[in-house]
Amino acid sequence: GVPEVPARPIAARRVSRRIDVGPVPVGGGAPVSVQSMTTTRTSDIGATLQQIAELTASGCQIVRVACPTQDDADALATIARKSQIPVIADIHFQPKYVFAAIEAGCAAVRVNPGNIKQFDDKVRDIAQAANDHGTPIRIGVNAGSLDRRLLQKYGKATPEALVESALWEASLFEEHGFRDLKISVKHNDPVVMVEAYRQLAAQCEYPLHLGVTEAGPVFQGTVKSAVAFGALLAQGIGDTIRVSLSAPPAEEVKVGIQILQALNLRQRRLEIVSCPSCGRAQVDVYKLADEVTAGLDGMEVPLRVAVMGCVVNGPGEAREADLGVASGNGKGQIFVKGEVVKTVPESKIVETLIEEAMKIAAQMEKDGVEA
Ligand code: SF4
Repeated sequence: GVPEVPARPIAARRVSRRIDVGPVPVGGGAPVSVQSMTTTRTSDIGATLQQIAELTASGCQIVRVACPTQDDADALATIARKSQIPVIADIHFQPKYVFAAIEAGCAAVRVNPGNIKQFDDKVRDIAQAANDHGTPIRIGVNAGSLDRRLLQKYGKATPEALVESALWEASLFEEHGFRDLKISVKHNDPVVMVEAYRQLAAQCEYPLHLGVTEAGPVFQGTVKSAVAFGALLAQGIGDTIRVSLSAPPAEEVKVGIQILQALNLRQRRLEIVSCPSCGRAQVDVYKLADEVTAGLDGMEVPLRVAVMGCVVNGPGEAREADLGVASGNGKGQIFVKGEVVKTVPESKIVETLIEEAMKIAAQMEKDGVEA
């Protein structure tokens, strides 16, 4: 079969401690995991579980749920029990919900020290409860809610300020012998965020949760996250990621998975190698690429499909792929594993490609290629 991680990942991973978020290992060389967060009221158990099911189907591995009220805290036990993927409770302001989340059996708890008054005084009890239940804690520092002391010291949320906040809180947990921590230092500016994570990575061994916070709507948020995560993962920094988009959370998961695939940190699935088209194109490449993408949506085996507008680079790229088409003279030459298997009229290109893709996929599944 095909190895789970392709031969050439972007970089060797930074050595980090491993924690276990339910059944999902984070750090210690474990594959980079993809997270998202529900947008439902957590107290609405049905709606939240429904969204978690959708996230699970989209490939999300860890889900975070907000917990701003007692009703939300009361819902955690059922959600944690019924969710298919580990649930992290996201707690701001109220330490009592941290204890509730741990008691409820959440796989981990995220705390934001900047948003919990006198957080430092509570650390001992939180460490004790987390330790008793084997619950890891994420220290989630956020530029928008940085500790007031550090805001005064640095004037604004600089990388140094974010890192100092995170390491200070980590040190308080360490004082109580608790080290099942992961850390995030999110900022909405990818440049500040990247620098913060670089500094943090150099100063501790905790696994790191990457995120550009408030990254924006889909297009901008995707670009910002991809650039920032790419810069960090290219240095081996990052153990789990969350793409924040002003869009349904399943979109975040799709983007996160694509980022990991692009960096060879995860086996690529369907990959459409389509040309940008140019004045030589003899077919509507955009339309063809969209139709092929839609037709092969959900393909679970790694499959590279080339869609080329003309014969200049067409046959070359098409040959490199598992499957491909090079168009010319109102026809499409269909290539499978480097061989022209047939030439079809333009109107039949899409259906022929899909047909051939299904055959290859069936063969791959038979040969035991990991889906
Ligand atoms: Fe242009 Fe042909 Fe290259 Fe597509 S494959 S960009 S149509 S030269």
